[in-house]
Amino acid sequence: MPSWLGKSNQNANDLFTTSQAGGNTVRQDSTTFARVELAAHTADPYKFVNDFFKANEDTIGVKSRNIADSDTDFNTIEDSLSGFSESAKTIIKGLTALGHLHPFIGIAVGAFALVVTLDLTRRDNDRKVVAVKVQMQDLMRVFFELRHIPSSDEEGPNGLTIGARLEGLMQEIAKDIKGCGSACDAYLKKGFLAKTVKASIYETRLSDFGMLFVEHRKALEMALAVHTSLAVDSANQKLDNQDGRLRIIEEKLDMIMLFRKLDTPREKDMQKFIEKHGGAKACITNDELLEVLVTKSGESLSRLPGRESGRRSNDLPDIKKRLLKELQEDIDEVFDKNMVLFERKLDIQSKQFADVVQEESDHIISTLLSGAHDRIRDPDLQKIWKDMGWKGSVKARHFVLALHDYYTDKMSSVGTPTTAHISGLPSPQTPGRNSMTTVQKKRQDDRWALTYINAAYVQPILEAVDDDGTGFVSVKEVNTFVAERPGNWSLPHWIAYWAVGWQASMSRYKDKIYELVQTMFQTLEHVLPSNRRAADEYLFHSSFWRIELLLRSTRSVSSKILSDPELTKMTESYEKDEEERLDANLQDVAYELDTPATVSLMTGVGRIERYVFPLIYLLLRRHLKVMRIACKHVLDTEEFVSLNESLVSILLAVDYRVQNLEAIFKQTHLDVQARLGNFAFGIFQLSYGDIRRVPADNSFASWTNPEVDSGVGSKNGITQEEINRLAIGIPHEILKYGIRDGYSVTDYHEFEHLGLALDSTSVEGTWTGHHHRQFGDESILSVLRVSIRLTSADKIYGKGEDFADSDPNRPFTLMRIPPTLLRYRYTPDQFAEDPVRSRWSFACSAALHQAQEVLWSRRFFEARFAERKRYVALTTRALIVQMGLTPQAPLTPVEKGELEYLRRELNPSEARFYQALAEFEIQKLPWHPAWGCDWCERQITKCRILCIQCISEDLSDNIDLCASCVDKAPAKRTFTHEINHAVVKVEQTLHDYDIVRIVDAARTTFERVRALFRSLDSALQVHRPDDGSSHKDEHRSNLLCACCGKDVLPPCWVCVVCTKDTFVCADCDSKRLPSQIPAHTLTHALVRIRDTTLNGESPADDRYLALEHRLLAMELRVSEGFAAMESKVDERLAALEASVEDRLLSFETKLESRLSTLEVVLRQIAAQTAALPAVYGQVVRDYAKSTSVR
Ligand SMILES: [Zn+2]
Ligand SMILES: [Zn+2]
Ligand SMILES: [Zn+2]
Ligand SMILES: [Zn+2]
Repeated sequence: MPSWLGKSNQNANDLFTTSQAGGNTVRQDSTTFARVELAAHTADPYKFVNDFFKANEDTIGVKSRNIADSDTDFNTIEDSLSGFSESAKTIIKGLTALGHLHPFIGIAVGAFALVVTLDLTRRDNDRKVVAVKVQMQDLMRVFFELRHIPSSDEEGPNGLTIGARLEGLMQEIAKDIKGCGSACDAYLKKGFLAKTVKASIYETRLSDFGMLFVEHRKALEMALAVHTSLAVDSANQKLDNQDGRLRIIEEKLDMIMLFRKLDTPREKDMQKFIEKHGGAKACITNDELLEVLVTKSGESLSRLPGRESGRRSNDLPDIKKRLLKELQEDIDEVFDKNMVLFERKLDIQSKQFADVVQEESDHIISTLLSGAHDRIRDPDLQKIWKDMGWKGSVKARHFVLALHDYYTDKMSSVGTPTTAHISGLPSPQTPGRNSMTTVQKKRQDDRWALTYINAAYVQPILEAVDDDGTGFVSVKEVNTFVAERPGNWSLPHWIAYWAVGWQASMSRYKDKIYELVQTMFQTLEHVLPSNRRAADEYLFHSSFWRIELLLRSTRSVSSKILSDPELTKMTESYEKDEEERLDANLQDVAYELDTPATVSLMTGVGRIERYVFPLIYLLLRRHLKVMRIACKHVLDTEEFVSLNESLVSILLAVDYRVQNLEAIFKQTHLDVQARLGNFAFGIFQLSYGDIRRVPADNSFASWTNPEVDSGVGSKNGITQEEINRLAIGIPHEILKYGIRDGYSVTDYHEFEHLGLALDSTSVEGTWTGHHHRQFGDESILSVLRVSIRLTSADKIYGKGEDFADSDPNRPFTLMRIPPTLLRYRYTPDQFAEDPVRSRWSFACSAALHQAQEVLWSRRFFEARFAERKRYVALTTRALIVQMGLTPQAPLTPVEKGELEYLRRELNPSEARFYQALAEFEIQKLPWHPAWGCDWCERQITKCRILCIQCISEDLSDNIDLCASCVDKAPAKRTFTHEINHAVVKVEQTLHDYDIVRIVDAARTTFERVRALFRSLDSALQVHRPDDGSSHKDEHRSNLLCACCGKDVLPPCWVCVVCTKDTFVCADCDSKRLPSQIPAHTLTHALVRIRDTTLNGESPADDRYLALEHRLLAMELRVSEGFAAMESKVDERLAALEASVEDRLLSFETKLESRLSTLEVVLRQIAAQTAALPAVYGQVVRDYAKSTSVR
């Protein structure tokens, strides 16, 4: 039986007074009452259990329809799931009481209570997990059948007690409950994507547990039925539902079908998509499908809210890597690993149960039902409560003010020991036991504290008592506040601590955390290259800037506030005790905080703001140790990732708290942001609302310890010697994954020794052949080897390379041949052509190889070494392309063939070793976590070029280029980059810690050096009337390249870090020559001076001028053209006009002359026709008319 069950009678109710995150106000008073009730009944547990059962029959006794039954309708399922946490609480209470009647069930009940309680604080409860737990709970319901049996010792007719009958089953149930709890815990911790791609595997496991509980339930029902039916005469108990229990239940159980019903629309959508596209693996290996999948899941790599600066680079390669790993992970191993942590958590949880029980047990009896004030344990507070006539809760402000008045009053009334004696007031502390002198002494001791119970400190005192931030203080809160006081402290001391001491303590932790972070960044410089990327990602992780927000947000107090020696002493001792307590708890879980629930398990009851700084401090202190080990040894790449996860859990707990506070503040119509500024010294103010990374505001680097004289600058960094000294003595056990110094490439040994006869009929020995496998789009042919040994007549041992992933449709042939010699082996074609010759040539080459190997021939080893070098170089380049890193140098077809050849020919042990070396090369690449190239959009590795002109004010976004794209000019987001912009080159992750300094330094360096080159040039122009490149050297001898020692001309690079201007010529930079100046290293950030002409204008100006010239020229040409055109047009128009005029004129004159001729003719005709007869006259007139018309 677990200790907590045996310790006291009251624990069942206490389980749920440990509300973790705060913000829950209804929990307390009713439980106090229930506790009393329970205490009163423990005299007769049998009666109590039955009473309890009757009272809660709705919850416990309900014959739940099995939710996994395929006939169960959806609403019933829905009800069971949503009511789970409430019904579980009741059931645990009942079971605990039942445990007093039948102690043998303790082990199972204890497991159930712990597993369920541990998860009740979880926010993101998965419905499938709840469904499994409902099955677990259904099993526990059956336990209540035991209520009919008054005693465990009662024997059945077969002489077996019920305890003895069920003992084995109880142990099994307990084991399975824990196993299930751990499996659910591990499952819940997986991200949505990971859960989805392995859905069927996880669901099978969860469903197995569900079915297991059904099995146990049936077994238990059966055992009970057997026992009670045998004992029915002697026990004389009414077994009303026996028939129902005895009936063999034929349920059509299908957990998987239930899970389908519980799928969310998003899950359904994802599953459909994966099915449609050929399964999880196909979707992960295909970039396009994966991208759709990630978008559908709405998941990013970070669990933490808060916007990252600008854009995030493409997360896809990382997600892909992770998911592939996830897919390959052995689920049993995952569960086993998780079990270790899970059991530790259960231990702490049960320890907390015990603590609460012990603390409260003394007070139960005295707090029987009476007025509200009677439930308050502290006599002083009780008196205040009573005098003020308060009910269940009181406005926090009134409470503090009343407290103030009460103690002020009391202080004046006990001005001297004598008056205290005379006044005869009842002593607030432990009355009756102490003599008057100790009372007097205590009074004196309290005096200093009373000065802090003062209107000036209302806010901090109020926050300390009003745990949930509602603005009201309840009886429960008062009792909790008093109970948390260290044993030898008086209440005024305790209040004084919260008035002033706590803030001082917070400030101290704030300083310590800043100091730790600065030390971390200094240590980072010494971290081994192979660990550097992991360490960079750790420090770059969003948890760090979120921590920075907390620190920056918190108002420090001046150290003067703690001028009171008494208060200082007490504060420091309390701080020390709390730190030790937290540290001990953290050690229990090996400093691994996997979820926010684990965080509250560490801290115990109470507001996170009380613990957040000490907790972060303790974690970072540990992490610094890991980082120091990373300076000496190669660590697993996952090591730092798990460190971040712990920080994330703390910050999520902070987020939950902020959300709670927000809800409370909103109820009272307050400006939440302003209210948070005033709450707990502003700690949460910056963590509320739209939070995002703002590198320009990051205070990690700019912070200086106010306690330390600035003269003692620890900012100068840490020397290698110091690191070495510090790293010694850090136990490697603090690492989760251990040291990875050696390449754990192969532990393969062949069974090829003297004992094994090479009998051609035996299968024993090593078999080697070629093996083909598909990796993404690439097909890889490698050497496969299997080693077989017959140990006895009916057993064969085999060992071989891992080829689990291989396509079963690809056959392979194995031959009896040592793997090193396979390369010399003839192909089937060659053999068919000339069997004798192929055999002979193979024999010669193989013999030569073996002879050289045996003789340690130098040529032999040189050849092997060259092969290795080539293999690593080619594989590294191939991996860079495959992983989308930069700068890329894709393999040529010839090189591809060469790599193919090496893969095919190398001994598998060698090949795997070389492959590991190549992967190690990738691991060592300088890494820039959040940035992709703005031109080619690949992940930037090695060097990152950032423009300091195209950069946002808050330094959160800028134009980035990879080494291959330096001279590209992308226009992205709001920036339009030009190749002449001042750019900085960094070869290491540029942390927010450094960015302000680097960018500022780069700007000033750029301006200064450009001016320098200008002035040099103008000086030169005076001395150089005509071309004379030989003159140059004389005049520029003061600007030398730090690497080659020659004169520097733009384009060149200037160091931003070194105090003295340090130049690197473009040539040396591209060759990456080491610096001759000791202070300067290749990792220093450089700024580029690109000016090519030194005529006083920068090329940008030139370009502008040229453009202007061109524009002017063009304008000129255009206007000239226009003018010419205009004049031409004018001319032609004039000519046209003239000719038209001419023509018109001639036309006019012609017309006129003709008209006048016509007129004359007409007149003549008219004269002639007048003499003719009328008829003729008419004809002639007509004729004349027609001719005139013509
Ligand atoms: Zn690029
Ligand atoms: Zn730019
Ligand atoms: Zn040089
Ligand atoms: Zn430098």
